[in-house]
Amino acid sequence: MTALPPIAAERLPALLAAMPKAELHIHIEGSLEPEMIFQLANRNGVELAYESVEALRRAYAFTDLQSFLDIYYAGASVLLHEQDFYDMAWAYLERAARDHVVHAEIFFDPQTHTARGVGMEAVIRGLHRASQDARERLGISSALILCFLRHLSEEEAFATLEEAMPFRGQFIGVGLDSSELGHPPEKFARVFARCRELGLRLVAHAGEEGPPAYIWSALDVLKVERIDHGVQAVHDAALMRRLAEDRIALTVCPLSNLKLRVFPELAQHNLKALLDAGLVATVNSDDPAYFGGYMNDNLVQTFAALPQLDARDAWQLAHNSFEASFVAPDVRRAWQERLLGSFEEAARP
Ligand SMILES: [Zn+2]
Repeated sequence: MTALPPIAAERLPALLAAMPKAELHIHIEGSLEPEMIFQLANRNGVELAYESVEALRRAYAFTDLQSFLDIYYAGASVLLHEQDFYDMAWAYLERAARDHVVHAEIFFDPQTHTARGVGMEAVIRGLHRASQDARERLGISSALILCFLRHLSEEEAFATLEEAMPFRGQFIGVGLDSSELGHPPEKFARVFARCRELGLRLVAHAGEEGPPAYIWSALDVLKVERIDHGVQAVHDAALMRRLAEDRIALTVCPLSNLKLRVFPELAQHNLKALLDAGLVATVNSDDPAYFGGYMNDNLVQTFAALPQLDARDAWQLAHNSFEASFVAPDVRRAWQERLLGSFEEAARP
């Protein structure tokens, strides 16, 4: 076990904010702030169903995953050109860098855009260019993960993969998102098998609202390397052991869970139980513009709501975020050393 210097409790919130960390569960379309939705709507001449930024913000009163997704897709309708995707990704990366996120693996939903007639090239090029510029100008590294929308068919996922192949060098993996219930992972068994042959990294949303069985099939049928959310795993002891033994990371998103009522209150979140069971749990923002907070808001608010979380848990979460990232081992180790350095710094009188 890594020896950590003692951290005074009152220093923990500042340390949570300042420590280096990776974000592994962020949907770039979910980083669209109402101000940017209006700005892009004006630039592109898109008519919105909301009168003002305030009216749009008021509509963010979701009750479950589906009611959120309805407004999420409406917001994405303002994205038409390569520059729009660039501006959206740049805004997120700038915001993430301020939270001391040093690496982000960013989900994007091409089907939300190609279904509206936007070309795959505009989507991937815009996002990729922002990622490159952010590495140079902000010192934040990032990579793209293409997500299939699980409420659509596997045939449509195959068509999307085909369309994205000319840009294979600009994304590192695939994921599975959107409405979980009624759309189990096995629906996408063949397309994930194909992605594996292509050398793509594999992740999937499972066990957010869906049952532990969906996590089992994401692991055994899709053969994913990380589970996005996965908080329902606590209802299955055998699954918890499997996740811990195989070091399968869970990309947990506390404020998203709160807003979508997966947990009625943050104080009832099971993050501590996941860590105590030895799982590679991480904290992430999911759709930060919609769920009321970016990376550090998630960390600070969750630690405030769960007083049983301490400095070791903070270190573990950030350490896990690097362990679970798809970067080269030497890069990961360098970040983990920086992380330890930030704890030593915070321990100084
Ligand atoms: Zn998500």
